[in-house]
Amino acid sequence: MGIYKAEAIVLRSMVYRESDRILTLFTREAGKVSAIAKGVRKTTSRLRGAVQLFSHTRLVLYGGRSLDTVSQGEAEEDFSYLEQDLERFATASYCAELVDRLTPEREPQPKLFFLMLSMLRALKQGDLELTARVFELKLLDILGYRPSLTECVVGNHQLSSAAREGMQKVWFSIERGGVVCPICAKNCEGVLSFSPATLGAMGYFLRSPLEQAIKARLSSGVLRELSILLQGFLAYHGDVRPRSRYFLDTFRDGGAGNGYNKK
Ligand SMILES: [Zn+2]
Repeated sequence: MGIYKAEAIVLRSMVYRESDRILTLFTREAGKVSAIAKGVRKTTSRLRGAVQLFSHTRLVLYGGRSLDTVSQGEAEEDFSYLEQDLERFATASYCAELVDRLTPEREPQPKLFFLMLSMLRALKQGDLELTARVFELKLLDILGYRPSLTECVVGNHQLSSAAREGMQKVWFSIERGGVVCPICAKNCEGVLSFSPATLGAMGYFLRSPLEQAIKARLSSGVLRELSILLQGFLAYHGDVRPRSRYFLDTFRDGGAGNGYNKK
């Protein structure tokens, strides 16, 4: 693969040997790449600033059999302020873990690269819980798991907007990936009920760029339902229950979990 340039975000960074680090990079050009940064733990390393956790960076790499090697780097954007705030750091770690676990190596996902960047920038000021929810839904959409919000996924028919507006609650099947009309819901196992506002929020997140979506004003009830729904979706369709999520949840409910299994 030889030498190549990449614009990257550092998703993970692990200490290796005396002075090296092994990085999981999410690159715009090549998707997820594992690379070694030699000597970066020395204070004299010129690479040090370019490969900090969550940095947006421009790198020159040598391709290797299992690990590439970072040979040069320049930080484009520094997100080190995240390390000074535990909850912001936990949110960034959670989103990075989702990307790491849901994407294969060396498969370019430029939309996801830019979503990740927007998310890291939003963490500076935005509402952290809302930012994580918007990120989850947009990630699912980009990776091909977009929930169906307008078509009944059991009967495969459109829900008219009049019918949707008249509903007191909406039914949703995580397994089938979308809304279920009240008639089909009667014969469908495992459907969950949500408020129409939760469905409306999801539609808004999908239509809007992340920067705008995270300005939505949502009730705590809607946020809770979004959390249940998206976590169920990620677990079922992406097969991920990220470890960092449990840590993140301890900020919200004292570690009582997500509520998904309580229904
Ligand atoms: Zn139906």
